[in-house]
Amino acid sequence: MALSFTRIDLHTHSRVSDGTQSPTELIDEAVAAGLDCLGLTDHDNTDGWDEAACAAEQAGIGLVRGIELSTITRSGSMHMLAYLFDPTNRALTELTAEIRDSREHRAERIVARLAKDFPVTWADVLAQSGEAKAIGRPHIADALVERGIVTDRTQAFDRMLHPRAGYYEPYFAPDPVEAITLIREAGGVPVVAHPATVGRGAGPDDDLMHRMADAGLGGLEVWHRLNPPEFRAHLMQVARTYDLIVTGSSDYHGAGKPNRLGENLTPPDQLERIVEQATGVPVLQPQRRATQPSKSS
Ligand code: AMP
Ligand code: FE
Ligand code: FE
Ligand code: ZN
Repeated sequence: MALSFTRIDLHTHSRVSDGTQSPTELIDEAVAAGLDCLGLTDHDNTDGWDEAACAAEQAGIGLVRGIELSTITRSGSMHMLAYLFDPTNRALTELTAEIRDSREHRAERIVARLAKDFPVTWADVLAQSGEAKAIGRPHIADALVERGIVTDRTQAFDRMLHPRAGYYEPYFAPDPVEAITLIREAGGVPVVAHPATVGRGAGPDDDLMHRMADAGLGGLEVWHRLNPPEFRAHLMQVARTYDLIVTGSSDYHGAGKPNRLGENLTPPDQLERIVEQATGVPVLQPQRRATQPSKSS
């Protein structure tokens, strides 16, 4: 299928997980940022898909429906983007439900630990997480900000929420090979998110890369602010070795992070490859293209 998108950002979050904008606000901001195709990839749930689809059609922008699935390796957590899979696939919906349930209990345990040192409660966190379906540390950070204990999410992560700060608790997540298998069975295309966060900056080791490629890994997110320039060159080499798709994206979280929409983009031919491999749901192409908003409108 020939797509005509040129400015494609394939990794963003809404309030349905730990972004600060609704799916509709996210779509409108994407148009204002000059994007013509957006990927919505909330953590461990697809509840934002329908609203985003309506908003994208209205706004005249393409939409790639996706998710950022939590996985865990021997050397720590690894995020797996998945695009255009069937959102009703039983194995995948059961898996994400289990992850979300574990996320919630784990967040309660983190708050119980924090509450020994700071005036923060579980009710504070629930007030912040609102409509979010996947609760995470960013919502705890927001509660700490609301209480005036820290100034922003970044300070909360630096002081209290990073794994070595003394309050951390893990949550259940599948092995990446299992996640890749399930994503492919659901017709989706799995792409390792910000690989620099794996293996303390070294990325997936050779053995894991090999096993992931065998299981059907589709691609690597190369252009992401967390991947240093020299590491991107290494990732391009790995992608050539395994014939993987290479993507770029902002990982926008609204006001929750400094990342700006469109700060990294995915080359159009790489999106074509994702679309060719996917059999779950189609990429949404608007009937009518957005015209760039003028400042006065
Ligand atoms: P969790 O999902 O609970 O493990 O929390 C990880 C999430 O926190 C990631 O998806 C990021 O969006 C967010 N995050 C990580 N570090 C920071 C930071 N320094 N500032 C703001 N958000 C962060
Ligand atoms: Fe996040
Ligand atoms: Fe991530
Ligand atoms: Zn993300």
